[in-house]
Amino acid sequence: MSGLELQNISKRFGSVTAVSDINLNIPEGRFISFLGPSGCGKTTLLRLIAGLETSTTGQIVLDGEDLTDKPTHQRNIGMVFQSLALFPHLSVGENITYSQKIRGIEKTVRRKRADELLELVQLPGVADRNISQLSGGQRQRVAIARALALEPKLFLLDEPLSALDAKLREEMQVELRILQERLGITTIIVTHDQREAMTMSDEVVVMSTARIAQVGAPLDIYRNPASAFVAEFIGTSNLLKAQQAGGNKITIEGQTFETDGLPDTLKPEDGIIVSVRPEDVHVYPESNEGPNRMSGTVTFLRDVGASVETFVQCGDVQIVAMATPKDRPDVSKGDNVKVELPAESCVVLKA
Ligand code: ATP
Repeated sequence: MSGLELQNISKRFGSVTAVSDINLNIPEGRFISFLGPSGCGKTTLLRLIAGLETSTTGQIVLDGEDLTDKPTHQRNIGMVFQSLALFPHLSVGENITYSQKIRGIEKTVRRKRADELLELVQLPGVADRNISQLSGGQRQRVAIARALALEPKLFLLDEPLSALDAKLREEMQVELRILQERLGITTIIVTHDQREAMTMSDEVVVMSTARIAQVGAPLDIYRNPASAFVAEFIGTSNLLKAQQAGGNKITIEGQTFETDGLPDTLKPEDGIIVSVRPEDVHVYPESNEGPNRMSGTVTFLRDVGASVETFVQCGDVQIVAMATPKDRPDVSKGDNVKVELPAESCVVLKA
C-alpha cells in the first residue's frame, strides 16, 4: 500500500502503557489528526512514527518499506514541534536549509531552496533576516518551511499552533491545510483541539487512554459518534440517560421518544445514553404540541451574537438548544417551554 501503515503498535514506559495495539492505515496524501485529551498517547504515537521512540510491539510501514528499526534520519520525515526548535543564531534561510547543509548540499542550491520554500509558506524575501526579528506566526512558517526542505514523504506536526493567539491560530490552520493540499504530502497533526482537527483533517483519529476510540471523516464522527466519550470530545452534545423501550423507541425522564435506530450490538439489558447536538434541539412555547417533545423551564439564555443557546431544565435533565439569531426561539428565562429532540438527531449509544 502507498501510505503509512501502523500494525499492532504498542509502547510501554515501565508500567505505563502509553499506546496500546494501534492498527491504522493512512493512504498517501491524506491529512490526519490524532485527537484526544492529555495523556491519551497521541504524542507518543507520533514520536514512534518519527523514530524518536522505539515501539514495544508492532510495525511501522511507509510506502511498503518497514521503518520500524530505522533511525529518524533515515525515515524521510519532516517534523514541526510545539517549541519550533529554531536555531536563534542562524538566519531564516540557514535555519530552513540546515538539514541540507549537513548533507553537504552546496550553498547556492541551499539558498535557492530556502527562497522557494519561503515563497511557499508566504514569507518571501526574509531569508537573510534573523529569527529574532520574526513574529510568532512568521516563525511558525519558517519551522514549516524547514520541515519541508528535504521533500519528506511524511509531514508530522505536534501541536504546532498551540503557542499562537486564537485568531492567528485559526488563520494558520486554513493556510496549513491549503499548503498540504497543494503539496499532496501525507500529514499527521497531534492536537487536543477538536475544532483544529475538524478544520484541517480528511480523517480524525480520536484517542482515549492509549487506544483508538474512533476513526473517521470529521463530520461522520460528529454526526455518528461511537461512544459518549467521542460525542463529548468532538463538539458539544446533550448526553441524556435513557432506557430502551422496544424497537426504535427510548424513554427519557419517563417519556417516550422515537430515535433513528439503536445500535445492532446493543443487548436488551444494556444501559443507554442518547446524544443530541444542541443545534438539532428546538425550543417552542409551551402550547406548541408535537412528537418527540418534553416540557421544561428555561433557566438561562446565552446570546453571543452569532448564536444563542437556550438552557432548559426538564425534570432532572438539562438540555441545551443552540440557534442562529434568525431562528432564535421566542422564549425568555423562566418560561415553561417544549423541547423537541428530532428522532433523526437522537444518536443512541451504549452507556
Ligand atoms: P499531551 O496532550 O498532554 O501531550 P498525549 O496524549 O500526547 O498528552 P503522551 O505524551 O503520549 O500523551 O503520554 C501518554 C502516556 O505515556 C502518559 O501517561 C505519559 O505520562 C506517558 N509517557 C509519555 N512519555 C513518557 C516517558 N518518556 N516516560 C514515561 N512515561 C511516559
